[in-house]
Amino acid sequence: MASKTSLRAAILVVSTTAAKDPSSDAADVTLRDVFDKEGGRQWTVVETKIVTDAVAQIQRQIMLWADIPDAVDLVVTTGGTGFAVADHTPEAVSALLHRHASGLVHGMLAASLAVTPFAMMSRPVAGVRNNTVIITLPGSPKGARENLQAVIRTLPHACLQASGADSRSLHSGGVKRLEKDAGIGYGAGPSQPAGHRHDNHGHGHDHSHDPGHGHGHGHGHGGLVRHTKAGENPKSNDPSLGPSRRHRSSPYSMLSVDDALSLISEHTPEPRVVSAAVDESLVGSVLAEDVSAREDVPAFRASIVDGYAVVVPQDGNMKGVFTVSAISHASPGEVGGPLEEGQIARITTGAPLPPGATSVIMVEDTVLRSKTEDGQEEKEVEILADGVKDGENIREIGSDVKKGSVILEKGEQISAVGGEIGLLASVGVADVKAYRRPVVGILSTGDELVEHNRRDELQHGEVRDTNRPTLISAVKHWGYEVVDLGIASDKPSSLEETLRDGLRRVDLLITTGGVSMGELDLLKPTIERSLGGTIHFGRVAMKPGKPTTFATVPVKDNAGQRVFKAVFSLPGNPASALVTFHLFVLPSLHRMSGVSPPGLPRVPAVLAHDFPLDKVRPEYHRAVVSVGNDGVLSAASTGGQRSSKVGSLRRANALLCMPSGEEPLPRGTKVDALLMGSLRVDS
Ligand code: AMP
Ligand code: MG
Repeated sequence: MASKTSLRAAILVVSTTAAKDPSSDAADVTLRDVFDKEGGRQWTVVETKIVTDAVAQIQRQIMLWADIPDAVDLVVTTGGTGFAVADHTPEAVSALLHRHASGLVHGMLAASLAVTPFAMMSRPVAGVRNNTVIITLPGSPKGARENLQAVIRTLPHACLQASGADSRSLHSGGVKRLEKDAGIGYGAGPSQPAGHRHDNHGHGHDHSHDPGHGHGHGHGHGGLVRHTKAGENPKSNDPSLGPSRRHRSSPYSMLSVDDALSLISEHTPEPRVVSAAVDESLVGSVLAEDVSAREDVPAFRASIVDGYAVVVPQDGNMKGVFTVSAISHASPGEVGGPLEEGQIARITTGAPLPPGATSVIMVEDTVLRSKTEDGQEEKEVEILADGVKDGENIREIGSDVKKGSVILEKGEQISAVGGEIGLLASVGVADVKAYRRPVVGILSTGDELVEHNRRDELQHGEVRDTNRPTLISAVKHWGYEVVDLGIASDKPSSLEETLRDGLRRVDLLITTGGVSMGELDLLKPTIERSLGGTIHFGRVAMKPGKPTTFATVPVKDNAGQRVFKAVFSLPGNPASALVTFHLFVLPSLHRMSGVSPPGLPRVPAVLAHDFPLDKVRPEYHRAVVSVGNDGVLSAASTGGQRSSKVGSLRRANALLCMPSGEEPLPRGTKVDALLMGSLRVDS
């Protein structure tokens, strides 16, 4: 497509199991991921519904989406396309189609057949109802993913035509142009025909970039193409012209939060892979490769209990009195002679079994019969067990972890809980390949600012630098190293100097202040005009945080290579700065460090009281979300939400995504909450 288009898709999960227990459904997440990562930023998934395998239910939901004036552009169903008696999706959908699209069916089948002949067991249909394109995908997340991947780049074209766009103008450049716009085709280039895509399915963004392509462009993902050089056509004020010639309204177009987030994901530099030591510093890192066990756990046959190693006779009857002939403790060292039937060896938990032992009797199943003469040691022990089987109370070699098996997968994040570090430690993995976590620079700007901990009283007009200590804490809390770049004054030359120095030292730069409409708001002009950066957005339709600015700036790295670094210029008001950090900077940091999905986790919460709304802008309302006894999350406001009031974030663990509106949103309404901290528990 020549420009970014927002197409709306809906997902219908057809599964009787998922209808009973939505948490059992994996297809929805998988498909959203494909739309997100491989949809060329053209798709918004507006809704997912789950229905049982009943024809009427499937049809009813599709009609709800396709038979209204504001119909969605695309419905994808997943599930019910096989040969099982309960599989009715193709029949339900077929009956609804006004026009069939066998080409799409063919595309999906061809892609799946290239992966497995069992693709023949799927019975997809595709077509158009009114202005909505409908396709049926298999129920398995893998199959659904492959099928959607096979057709996703052609779907925008199909949807635009189905929605009534002028087909002459759509086709004006011929098939080559359509292929180019969609980022597909059989010619040269990084794209592949549908049937070959399984080679890299699921890794759509992992292929390395051709350095000649510059910053993430032109690699066939349908991204924006820029035809002018960065900084060639700045929109920002020219500071040398003075206040009377500045813009009196922002020249930057107002983006939705979603569009802003898309631009961030598009322009955030790719993660870099490094070798990292396995210790506490690894917590928070994401693995860049699968990790295999270097050793078996246990590495030797070990006892699970304290007791006696024995050789079980054929009949399993161990009853009798035995002389204790050897002792095995959990310590490395010599292996004694082999144990024979009739001999027993005392053994402790975790100790290696003597050679020849076939089972361990736990001490609770024995009675001490006699001691050595000094009274210190056991001499004879009576075993009370019969029906003993080989292997009882023994951990066989590799029974916990098999040498060579994959213990952790690429993309997994190492938690502070300890399970992953424990696993790595247990099999002797000392280093892993992980995504490097970016170093973050934090800079406050403003002539009025003084250090927050300066002892003397404030002079008239001075403001304590609140944002720097706040953001330093937040960034460190999320696991990233920080470089404190101090306070820059509102003078173009000193700001430029500080930014240049900062950009050399860090991977991502956060500034606050200087992005409003005053003549001393110098961030945008300095980035565009002095540093040659590109401002991807400079205004967002949200409250707080409207002037949030995101740019990338070219910088020479240590090897003299031109690289791009991300700069987030957040508003100066402290609440705005902290909210926009969580909303925009965090997803970028996550992308740079391989964390997926990026950004704050989103959960549904019920309003505990009426919430006033902003008439014009969607608001990110600071709130306390708690889990009630019924397991439902409820959200209460932290109070006054003015953007200068950083106290609105005191106790806050969530940002509520509130729509704009005239009337308050009543208590009991369900909204999305973005979790910044742990949930509170109502006791
Ligand atoms: P600006 O965008 O620079 O005009 O800043 C907007 C408002 O935020 C002004 O009232 C500034 O004084 C205030 N402000 C900017 N930076 C900070 C900071 N680091 N700490 C506290 N307040 C700030
Ligand atoms: Mg300022």
